[in-house]
Amino acid sequence: MFNLILFGPPGSGKGTQSTNIVKSYNLQHISTGDLLRDEVSRQTPLGVEAQKYMDQGFLVPDEVVIGMISGKIDENPGVRGIIFDGFPRTKAQAEALDKLLEFKNTQIHLVLSLEVPEDELVRRMLGRAATSDRSDDNEEVISKRIKEYHAKTAPVAEYYDAQGKLERIKGDLDIQDTFKLLSREIDKYLLPA
Ligand code: AMP
Repeated sequence: MFNLILFGPPGSGKGTQSTNIVKSYNLQHISTGDLLRDEVSRQTPLGVEAQKYMDQGFLVPDEVVIGMISGKIDENPGVRGIIFDGFPRTKAQAEALDKLLEFKNTQIHLVLSLEVPEDELVRRMLGRAATSDRSDDNEEVISKRIKEYHAKTAPVAEYYDAQGKLERIKGDLDIQDTFKLLSREIDKYLLPA
């Protein structure tokens, strides 16, 4: 198995590039943002709880997210690998993921971090607000999400850097050029399917 984390601040293009990577390399896609939005739209108890945090631009508590993801990892035995999108977002989540994968005799192989200047992140998220059904894309919530990223999520990059697994990728090129940079790193481990 080849397991990849696509890392980066909100608005850095993780969702878009995950779709490209999934198509090329045939990996299982696990996006905690998508999973949470699905729980919210079905108004499950987990979704009702998570929505309070998401609507305000805060991270959903670790135990909720970790509990949600553990079943997903086992959902498709025999997959080529998994791409994690928007997870882990805290050091506690990263440690929990390491343990879950170790239990399956596998590990995270590579963490690709999309690097995008802050003014461009805000511009992209405001643009997305006009076309998506996300409840978290207004200026006030966006600024809270970026604060949460710096306080809680940025340390996750250091966690993987210390393990020699982190590669920083320029994320403000056009979509195809950024995808080429990402592919160049993935190809060192796994060729397109
Ligand atoms: P995303 O679609 O990945 O940008 O996530 C949208 C929102 O869902 C975030 O602002 C958080 O409130 C919540 N969320 C998604 N993934 C996580 C995670 N791994 N940990 C905590 N909260 C998350």
